Amino acid sequence: MDFSNIPCQKHKGQDCCLFCKACNYLVCATCVSTKHNGHKMGEIKEFYEMKMNNVRKQQIEVKINGRRLKEDDFTLEKIYKSTSENYDTAKKDILAQKTALTIAVAKYADKLLSDLNQDRQSIKKTYDEGKKNIQKFKLNLNKQSTELDNISSTTEAATFFKEIENLTSDKADFTSIKLPDYIVTQFTSGEIMQSNFGSLQKKKKISKCEIILEISKEFQTELSDINCVAVDTNNSLCYDHVNNNIKIRKFGNIPERCFI
Ligand SMILES: [Zn+2]
Ligand SMILES: [Zn+2]
Repeated sequence: MDFSNIPCQKHKGQDCCLFCKACNYLVCATCVSTKHNGHKMGEIKEFYEMKMNNVRKQQIEVKINGRRLKEDDFTLEKIYKSTSENYDTAKKDILAQKTALTIAVAKYADKLLSDLNQDRQSIKKTYDEGKKNIQKFKLNLNKQSTELDNISSTTEAATFFKEIENLTSDKADFTSIKLPDYIVTQFTSGEIMQSNFGSLQKKKKISKCEIILEISKEFQTELSDINCVAVDTNNSLCYDHVNNNIKIRKFGNIPERCFI
């Protein structure tokens, strides 16, 4: 690079010949003898190299940041896709559980109603039998009562003894009346618990090792087949079967525990 014809910013018609280390500035002969008199000077080339090194450093930084941004974009997309899939699955599962539990609840309620009806029928049967027996005993009692009244009102001894003979022998036996157990059936409603249905739980997922490959350099090879490619932490050699060449692919950000 030619550093001989850089015009001085301060003095027209003069070219810069040095750079002032104290002011970090390009200077001409007039500058050196006036404003920058006594300052430490250096070669323009030295100044250029210094500035150029900074440019290279910044270039590397920009590249690294670009790659990081690409990885972040990739991760963001991946997280969104994964969470969307999980959302769909969770929604499907909730609706399926809703249907399953609705069916199960209806089935269980039907079973309880059936049990209750059976209970009711059994009580009704005992009631009907009891009623029938009571009616029967009542009739017998009435008959006995009438007969006894007749006997007690008889004034003739012959009739008295005759009627005593014919007195109904079928006496009412009250102990034979079967009374139902005094048990009532009540429904106690249960509490609906979250555990009966399930709940939403948040789980932190650990990102799997992801490698972004981008082509850095390509090489042609005469080899018909390659079984193994060498890999180091910065580059991987990949064999392209279609074009019969080897490509060096640069990894993105390689996680420390990632092995290939
Ligand atoms: Zn000058
Ligand atoms: Zn100076």
